[in-house]
Amino acid sequence: MKPAWSIHPDEWKPILAEKGLRPFRADQILQSLYRDYITSWDDATTLPKDFRETLKQEFPITKADLLTVSESSDGTKKLLVGFSDGNSVETVLIPATGRFTQCISTQVGCAMGCAFCASGSLGIVRSLTADEIVAQYMLARKYGEITNIVVMGMGEPFANYDEMMRALKLINAGRGPNLGARHITISTCGVVPGFERLASEGIQFELSVSLHAANNTLRDQLMPVNRKWPIEELIEACANYTIKTKRIITFEYTMIKGVNDSRADAERLAGIVKKVPMAKVNLIPLSPVEHRPDFKTPEESTMLMFLDILMKAKIQTMLRRSRGKDANAACGQLRLRNIKK
Ligand code: SAH
Repeated sequence: MKPAWSIHPDEWKPILAEKGLRPFRADQILQSLYRDYITSWDDATTLPKDFRETLKQEFPITKADLLTVSESSDGTKKLLVGFSDGNSVETVLIPATGRFTQCISTQVGCAMGCAFCASGSLGIVRSLTADEIVAQYMLARKYGEITNIVVMGMGEPFANYDEMMRALKLINAGRGPNLGARHITISTCGVVPGFERLASEGIQFELSVSLHAANNTLRDQLMPVNRKWPIEELIEACANYTIKTKRIITFEYTMIKGVNDSRADAERLAGIVKKVPMAKVNLIPLSPVEHRPDFKTPEESTMLMFLDILMKAKIQTMLRRSRGKDANAACGQLRLRNIKK
């Protein structure tokens, strides 16, 4: 038994042959899965009935139930997606001009324990399998054509590398959903071994790195992962990645009032980012979380001051606006609310 959504489109022919099934059925299967976007083999009406029964047995289509939807006034939708074992994750749909971005989760909860993150506050339950990650994408497609994916939902993608990568390669596959690699962004908190693995894939996925602090003392406190891979090691991995792939890295920097938003922080950040040959910075205002009422969003003027220092240091920087606030859309908050209920 192998879940249908864990099978790369190019693997269907050999897998069918191996099972003594006719390889020419592969094309019909791909059409059903990725043109008709079926969610049950019963709907693959181009296939003979007995063959559909075989497919059900051998290659089940992973169920992903829509548990709740909350919609924000800015059009952002947050879906709570349930799996057969009762666990759930969040996926967020973010419309923008000419774009429809899906933020996907790779784990139920997260083991990284970043201080400001709602997903981290409950620890990890388990990793998602590739087919569950694909199931999230398939569910979201009902709301419109997804043009971009960001792997910025619950979980640390590099802590679930194999399943995450299998899912993204499937979504990227020409004979599958065919979403361009440059439209898919993986975001890591800095699990260093993942950088070399990603670089050696030879696929042009985008990479974001959550930095959030420009010195080790603070980063140790905010992001426990830093105790294992401190800033120097992380930056070296980033530099090597950009040299090997000739692809840019985006550093994410969530700004927390009075914690990491000073002039000195901005100057140190500029110094760090400069060590990476191709890098840019996204400044993100903190989205307040219940478990850390002491963490607040900085004033607009502080964020502009910070931005200015980075720009003057000739670092390509964007000040991001948080989306979906009134839908509990920021970072693990919907699942948290659901669990507390
Ligand atoms: N584990 C990965 C991806 C998931 S988190 C990573 O760390 O990159 C996606 C992004 O949201 C990260 O940059 C994370 O630091 C950020 N984030 C988490 N909680 C946040 C909050 N309360 N406000 C703003 N950004 C937050």
